[in-house]
Amino acid sequence: MLHSRIFTFNPLGTNCVVLWADGQKACTVADPGMSSQDGLQELVAFFRKQGLTPDAILLTHGHFDHVWGVENLLDIYPVPVYMHPADKGILSDGASVFKGMQSFKVFRHNIATTDIADGDVLTTGGAAWKVIHTPGHTPGGVCYYSADDKLLLSGDTLFAGSIGRTDLGGGDTTCSCAPFRKNCSPCPGIPM
Ligand SMILES: [Zn+2]
Repeated sequence: MLHSRIFTFNPLGTNCVVLWADGQKACTVADPGMSSQDGLQELVAFFRKQGLTPDAILLTHGHFDHVWGVENLLDIYPVPVYMHPADKGILSDGASVFKGMQSFKVFRHNIATTDIADGDVLTTGGAAWKVIHTPGHTPGGVCYYSADDKLLLSGDTLFAGSIGRTDLGGGDTTCSCAPFRKNCSPCPGIPM
């Protein structure tokens, strides 16, 4: 059984999800978007209270609100950061994507990421995560799916009853995965 805790960070209210399997001390951190030291401390205090130590950071995509706290977290927990390589440009120069949000000023990240591809299976936090490449919101957007627990980390690809916007830089409404994202369930047991 997989346990999870969702944190909401930064002015955009981005979800960060911590996941760990029964009896495991290692946990997975998906999209650590903390924009403040308070957010970082909240997350670290949770790990310590639960006796957890992150063993990986999973990024669903490279948008700044999902990666805001990665460097600060790596200072404490130097773990691999997994991301699809098609989002490396967004990660290093998000200003070209978020032209109307310059006040946030956190658009340039120099993070060493480990490339992932559609179909890869990562084992982190005691769980196996299948990578599903879902471009459209960003070129390198992915979902992570735990078949054992029927749990999907969808980032901004899917929301309850809707899909993520595709009009930002690098987005693609007509990409081949759009029908898949709108109409299909790639994950048995998960209604979409
Ligand atoms: Zn996004």
